[in-house]
Amino acid sequence: MKLGGRALKLFLGIAIVAFGLIRYCGSQEENPYTGRTQAISLSTEEEIAIGLQNAPIMADQHGGMHPDQQLQDFVAQVGKKLVDHTIAQETPYQYEFHLLRDPKTVNAFALPGGQIFITYALMERLENEDQLAGVLGHEIGHVVGRHAAERIAQSELANTVATGAEVGADAGMLASQLGQTLLLKNGRGDELESDALGVKFMLEAGYNPEAMIEVMQILKAASGGQRVPEFQSSHPDPENRIQKIKEAIEKYQNN
Ligand SMILES: [Zn+2]
Repeated sequence: MKLGGRALKLFLGIAIVAFGLIRYCGSQEENPYTGRTQAISLSTEEEIAIGLQNAPIMADQHGGMHPDQQLQDFVAQVGKKLVDHTIAQETPYQYEFHLLRDPKTVNAFALPGGQIFITYALMERLENEDQLAGVLGHEIGHVVGRHAAERIAQSELANTVATGAEVGADAGMLASQLGQTLLLKNGRGDELESDALGVKFMLEAGYNPEAMIEVMQILKAASGGQRVPEFQSSHPDPENRIQKIKEAIEKYQNN
């Protein structure tokens, strides 16, 4: 019996999608620091290397490092305090905290492996050390939660699924929908997990966790109806985030 061209294509398409799914499911592991199971295709060494490689590129996009060494030291000192008092210290990551010169973009972000950045535009809007700890705690949360590595594994799956869909043509619709649903669902989770981890780290390092709520309000005011890139562009709406932060404070304060 000979397979028709169309049937063969469909079979190949399904095989490619199945391969992608098996590889993705096979890369599931429990994050020892958050307890959450996630698909990861990078080693921690690769995460650190990617972060170090991209740090100068990210800095360039924000006008380079801020020249005020005292402010740089302050950011580094608050970051170190958060790391030293929390589970972040037990991770293999090398945390470094940088103040970027950018006076316009209100933002903070983390690269995989521990490179963490805050722009001067956000820094100058903060009113106290606790709020800075809130921003940095949230970013440490992205590193400990391995969110970038998780996204990379997801986009690998999405690419494989898309290839399978192209080859198989007929099975395409279902496959590409599956990939998109997976990617959408996770952007929201990243921000909420980082908020909760940030609150936990703040409490452990002796900071006032209520300052995380103030940070949300500062970001909301700063955006003035416009989008703020990383910190707030996340899909959960600010009110929902504040509600979840309150729940996290309740949860971790009594532990
Ligand atoms: Zn974030």
